[in-house]
Amino acid sequence: MLAARDRARGAMIGLAVGDALGAPIEFGYTSTMIREKMDIVRHFHDNIMPPKGVWTDDTSMALCLADSLLEKQGYDSYDIMDKFAAWEFSGYRSYYPMGYGVGMQTDIAITAYTENPILKKDEPETESIANGCIMRLAPVVIANIKNTKKNVIRSARLSCRETHNSTGAMAITELMAATLYLILKGEPKDCLLEKAKNMIKDEPSKAFLKSIDDSHSRIFDRKGDSLRDLGGYALDSYDIAMWGLINFDSFLYGMLGVLGLGGDADTNAAIYGQLAGAYYGYDLIPDEWKNEVYLAEDIKKLADNLCEIKKYKILRTRFEDDDSFKAKGKQS
Ligand SMILES: [Mg+2]
Repeated sequence: MLAARDRARGAMIGLAVGDALGAPIEFGYTSTMIREKMDIVRHFHDNIMPPKGVWTDDTSMALCLADSLLEKQGYDSYDIMDKFAAWEFSGYRSYYPMGYGVGMQTDIAITAYTENPILKKDEPETESIANGCIMRLAPVVIANIKNTKKNVIRSARLSCRETHNSTGAMAITELMAATLYLILKGEPKDCLLEKAKNMIKDEPSKAFLKSIDDSHSRIFDRKGDSLRDLGGYALDSYDIAMWGLINFDSFLYGMLGVLGLGGDADTNAAIYGQLAGAYYGYDLIPDEWKNEVYLAEDIKKLADNLCEIKKYKILRTRFEDDDSFKAKGKQS
């Protein structure tokens, strides 16, 4: 049985590895082209942007979350959003002097935050159910590993809402959080999806997940043809990550399988990397990947420290309708 720390390290490094492997082939490559070049792709395909082993927004935003959760020993909306803004506009936790690869919905939300940090009660939902809400999730779940299932889901939901304030995005984020939490606790692959769905108690999320229930049949289609060349919809990325986990027996082959599906390759692989990294553990991630990925040692240390958070608390949120809402001037 793997220790929680090995699984946490696996999830964080897995995220960064997937992001870095997929980043050079994110744009302009079809799944057919990627499969033909897999012997290059698997060694961190050396395109100019980004260079070998360097990751994009997925990992940068995950590191922003990890830094904030550790500094605050809990959840503080404003601190998280300040770090997201520092990443996008000043290159905090980025290889580049500015954020690289920022998604459209994320950019809209961060820009809106800099103008008005509070999300009003009557703020309409956004339409976006883009995968930005689940690509960065691992630190939130790891920080809650000693917490109750209810609190894991609540924190995941809040982290989604910071940039993707829609019922669909929150529902899929809850499902991803539940799946990762169960894996971190040592749950086997069988019935993982069903057990994760059973962890979701919020009625709108349950209703949304019920409405898309049929899509998950794609996970069990071994060849994965229905998952090829898909864009940035969070549900597609979740299904692709689960497909890679369920249909292969190692981190390596699942990752190559996911990369070979093309589409939003870096984010799909970052999401797979979280789940599979937690499932197989840090030691079973190939050495070349886990040693050569940018900031590998820092990421490993963050995972260890996140596991050590003893009394995680939701300190304050910026959502006017939330129980933990506090205005920005008020310290927690
Ligand atoms: Mg990216």
